[in-house]
Amino acid sequence: MNKVIIDKQDLVHNIKKIKEHSKINSPDDNGNPVKIIVVIKANAYGLDLKQYTQFMIDQGFDFFAVSTVEEALEFRNLGFKQKLLMLSSTAIKEEIEELVQNDIIITIGSRESANIVNEIAKEQNKKIKAHIKIDTGFGRYGFIYSNRDEMIETIKLLDSNIQIEGTFTHFSNAFYDDKYTKLQFQRFIDCIEVLKMNNIDTGILHVCNSSAFVKFPQMHLNAVRIGSAFTGRLSFQNNLGLKRIAKLESQVTEIKTLPSKFNIGYSNIYKTKKETKIAIIPSGYINGINIELGQDTFRPIDKLRTIVRATKNAFKKQELYVDIAEQKCRILGRIGTFHVIADITGKDIKIGDKAKFNINNILVNPNIQREYI
Ligand SMILES: *Cc1c(COP(=O)(O)O)cnc(C)c1O
Repeated sequence: MNKVIIDKQDLVHNIKKIKEHSKINSPDDNGNPVKIIVVIKANAYGLDLKQYTQFMIDQGFDFFAVSTVEEALEFRNLGFKQKLLMLSSTAIKEEIEELVQNDIIITIGSRESANIVNEIAKEQNKKIKAHIKIDTGFGRYGFIYSNRDEMIETIKLLDSNIQIEGTFTHFSNAFYDDKYTKLQFQRFIDCIEVLKMNNIDTGILHVCNSSAFVKFPQMHLNAVRIGSAFTGRLSFQNNLGLKRIAKLESQVTEIKTLPSKFNIGYSNIYKTKKETKIAIIPSGYINGINIELGQDTFRPIDKLRTIVRATKNAFKKQELYVDIAEQKCRILGRIGTFHVIADITGKDIKIGDKAKFNINNILVNPNIQREYI
């Protein structure tokens, strides 16, 4: 059976590092510590929304964020009462109604969404908590930073039942393009100044995702939104010392000996060179295995390395390994959707032995059990 194993101690380690780092520019302008908003989108990055959220609550976190209406409602359906921010704005009335009904902090990011929220605020005559989103160059949610008049006019027309508790933006390339991130930050700060000049209370300001949080302490402002850093997966080199908290554990389900010159796997890219003892492990791409290969290609140097590696591999087939019963075994043939074949010739490996893989946790099939150890 396959399981995602999440190491609680490693997660606690990451939490400690992240908390320490959040203190660099703390207290903020208001004299408060920089608030950490725990992002739990995509089933808590594939680590199980319920277990992960409970763990984070036990660690003292009390403010969470998700990307979709479904996730927001699931959070409430699981019984969590903590503050929850829905990071995407929507101009669909039923969606906003559901969010408001479930005491979820909504995001207002357009004139259309503002109009609908106004309607609901008037109809229900009840306080609605909202954050304002500004699009500083992502091209997705938020008021376009350069259309200031529209933004100000819309916000000024918000019903008095709508409470603006925060204002934020999202960076499109914080893991790679520092210059662009700084430009987005400046656009945001300029907008905030204009909003303040118009006597608009912006609430808490937050712009950082994990990458910006690690790289730019000067951008921490009042709060930061952290997701992937907790899981230990950042796509650029950093010295925060975060650990990857999730691994996929599988088992050897079959062992057999193949004759020489026998094909292994799809596309016939591998043939045994001699009699070969193999272990079959029922786990593949569907579980996020090995997606990482060729992934860290964000900096030019990484791109170059990837090209060099790929060129080399064209001559000498790429060698991948899996750890079975604490022994490094070479993977033979192409990794399948559900299967990996490993060479265990001459090794003391039995049916039922455990195999461990590095994974991209966000991609692991949801039907696989998540276990916190
Ligand atoms: C996903 C997301 C985050 C968190 O990003 P990480 O890089 O995983 O920390 C923050 N803000 C928004 C709007 C997001 O969509």
